[in-house]
This record gives sequence, structure tokens and C-alpha cells, in this order.
Amino acid sequence: MPELPEVDALVGFLRTRAVGERVERADLAELSLLKTYDPPLTALVGRTVDDVSRVGKALILTLGDLELVCRLARAGWLAWHDRVPATAVRMGRGPLGLRVSFTSGAGFDLREAGTTKNASVALVHDRHEVPAVAQAGPDAGSIDAETFAAALGGTRARIKNALVDQRLLAGIGNAYSDEILHVARLSPFAPAHGVDPDHVLEAMRGVLGTAREALEGLPPAQIKAAKKRGLRVHGRAGEPCPVCGTTIAEVSYADTSLQYCPTCQTGGRRLSDRRMDRLLR
Ligand SMILES: [Zn+2]
Repeated sequence: MPELPEVDALVGFLRTRAVGERVERADLAELSLLKTYDPPLTALVGRTVDDVSRVGKALILTLGDLELVCRLARAGWLAWHDRVPATAVRMGRGPLGLRVSFTSGAGFDLREAGTTKNASVALVHDRHEVPAVAQAGPDAGSIDAETFAAALGGTRARIKNALVDQRLLAGIGNAYSDEILHVARLSPFAPAHGVDPDHVLEAMRGVLGTAREALEGLPPAQIKAAKKRGLRVHGRAGEPCPVCGTTIAEVSYADTSLQYCPTCQTGGRRLSDRRMDRLLR
């Protein structure tokens, strides 16, 4: 799932490549991807990309008085074409969701792997018409210490859940929350209001800063692999912790999982498997 550093890298890439490009076609290949119908996608034709920006994990292209708000969700991705393939876009076949072609011959696809379609695109006059944008909390990349402390102090959630709650803090998902908690040496199950917010903020700034630096300037096709290389615990169950050598453990849920180091984060205790809990209940 693209999180703040990946979406920042996409924004940076598209600012250099897509800004100034004029739309020739916008073809929808997956009906459920587009969440709005007025204005229609054809309203993009003839418009020029004026700016590319981000709110939380949402990628936003501004074309005159219209904004194309793209939420990539867990399996969504953007693919850039220096030359858009000549083959026609077909409905409902494979990962292609939307193709935008520019008059220069370049363009991009929004794709989503798998059968569960959670990515979304909205074409609106104002980004705040998209609920996820309107409700986004302060940005994880620029939040100040006081606001961060208030966010963590004002929730009953566990720290892992608080960090990924986009209304509390925008930009962090499953991967970087695991990384932040590993750096901060905190259990993912610790209550958010009980942790030292300055300590977590320092870890978050470090993790996001390192990731942004590693991904900056990369083309979209290289960003995901570069992200994976930089992760120390997330997605690395069974591998040794790079800090202490303990085998990285995992908590599995029905449709997701988190990874942590028992020595660095939970005083040697293994957290129970939530998926098993549910089955045993
Ligand atoms: Zn460790």
C-alpha cells in the first residue's frame, strides 16, 4: 500500500513529467474505480495538468478547476508510460483501472492487483468533496509535537491502530507503523495515550525521513521495490531483527498482519495471533 513516502515520490515524479501535459483521453477500465459521475471523466479531455499534490495517502492532479483525486488503497499503483500502449482499453480485464493519455503520447495507468477492488478515483471541483480528504487528520510528514501529543492522548486506541487512523494522523499505513514502533521499541498493542508522544514522533520523523530520501527521484516502477528494501521488520516475519538478531514475529488478522521484534518491542513476549483468537472464540 503506498504510504506517505511513496505518494510523495509519485508526486515528485509526476510534477516533473505530467505537469504541463494536455489530456487527450481518459479511459476507464474498471467501473467501480470511479466514485463520481458529474463532471464525467471526459471533462478531463483538453485540460492541462497544472499541479500534482497529496493529502495523506491520496494523490491529486489539478487540471484547471477540476481535481482528480486518486486513492490507491492496498493494491493500487500508478504506472507511467513515456508512450501509452496502442492497444485499446478494455473494461473489467485485469489490473488496469484507468488510463489517462496525453497529447504528447505519454500517459499513466492506475492499476489495482487482485480481485478486491478498494482503490478509488474521484473527479471533483474541490478535493474536499472527497470524504477521505475532508476528514484527513494532520499530515504525518509535517505534524508538530503539540498536535501529535494531542492526537495520541485523545484516543483509546492501541498505538498501532492510532498511527494508521487517517483521521487522527494522515499518511501512515501498515508498513511504516510497524517500522516506527520497532524504532521506538514499543509494543503495537500499547495504548496510544500511555506512550511518550515525543519519543514516537522522533521515531516517525526518522522513519519517514529515511524512506523519503531513499525514494526521492525514483520512477514509479522502482518505488515499491525500493520501499521493501528499506523496511526492517514489516513483511519480514521469520528473518532476524537487524538490531538484536531475534526472529521477527507476526500477528495475523483475517485480512492483514503486523510484524514486530519480541526482544526490541515486547520484552520477549509473543503477542497472540488475532486470527487464531477469533477462531477459538
Ligand atoms: Zn530486535
